[in-house]
Amino acid sequence: FTRVVLAQRPVGHIDDKTFRKETIPYDLKPSTPDSVVVQVDWLSLDPAMRGWLNDTRSYLPPVQIGEIMRAEGLGTVIEVGSGSKFKVGDVVKGTFGWTEYAVMKDKTLTKIEAPTHVESLDFLGVLGASGMTAYFGLLDVGKIQPGETLVVSGAAGAVGSVVCQIGKIKGAKVVAIAGSAEKCRWLENDLGVDKAINYKDADFKEQFKKHVGYLDVFFDNVGGEILDFALTRLNQKARIVLCGAISDYNAPKPRGLQSYLNLISQRARIEGFIVFDYASQYATAADEMGHWIKDGKLKRKFHTVEGIASAPEALPMLFTGGNTGKLVVKVSQI
Ligand code: NDP
Repeated sequence: FTRVVLAQRPVGHIDDKTFRKETIPYDLKPSTPDSVVVQVDWLSLDPAMRGWLNDTRSYLPPVQIGEIMRAEGLGTVIEVGSGSKFKVGDVVKGTFGWTEYAVMKDKTLTKIEAPTHVESLDFLGVLGASGMTAYFGLLDVGKIQPGETLVVSGAAGAVGSVVCQIGKIKGAKVVAIAGSAEKCRWLENDLGVDKAINYKDADFKEQFKKHVGYLDVFFDNVGGEILDFALTRLNQKARIVLCGAISDYNAPKPRGLQSYLNLISQRARIEGFIVFDYASQYATAADEMGHWIKDGKLKRKFHTVEGIASAPEALPMLFTGGNTGKLVVKVSQI
């Protein structure tokens, strides 16, 4: 079977030397009574993976050279240890990595039992880390209130598209920022944001001033120049939710902010967060978001690539804007 390992740490962008595909004979068995063999069905591709390739201190240790690339996914249990709590056929979520099969300890897996109004795959999207990031980032860190103005960068991606919709559910005016006219049309026509602006337009800043005025919450997935400009458009007591800074992930050093003094004059707050800290509340959030899906208030879109071997070429799409919605790899033929 095929797996993909880190071959060399990238300097700047991921390239064709970063990862190496390996073909391994299949001889997997549960390693202990409380472990199982999983056939990997789906893998999530995330901007954070770029950070895991750097040999630096972060919220998770770096992936080592020669190690299978870390990734979360969904799979089917195909063999169980004598004392495992799982049974053959169970659908499970876990950090399998870029591989077609994995031996996993029970305690590292979550059994997925999707209610009828959602799909298992939603547990890699709206009901998984992307959706949880949107939910807790906007509600707990951003504390969005009805009638406030919310601006979302990276708005047509996995996290951003959910933030926009929760913003509308909570009664905010939502202005979305994305990188193409097509994405902007999707955000306005399908997801119902009040206005979507293409940051690649020459008059982006004028459009921002015109349609946003001043903002109460800026949910930032992008960092860099867009964040810096947003800081010049703060209402008093604005909240800046630092979710991600994808425009800086390939840069050797993050670029500094020019406009942060506005935080002082506007008595505003800038706060980072990591979604894992909310793990104990995921089930409650998934339940509420599941109901929004059922009621048609929350739409989701997947961008699917086929086969484990396509993962190394697909990951860079996150940095060129090739995806709309949640980028996933379909690994098995289920
Ligand atoms: P997305 O699905 O949003 O994909 C990334 C998108 O970012 C691309 O589609 C692209 O869209 C946009 N983008 C890429 N490069 C740039 C650039 N230089 N300038 C502006 N936009 C750019 O990814 P996710 O939804 O999975 O992640 C979104 C953000 O959330 C990331 O920063 C990620 O690191 C962060 N995150 C944070 C978590 C936390 O716990 N704090 C947890 C999960 C994610 P476009 O066409 O619009 O340019």
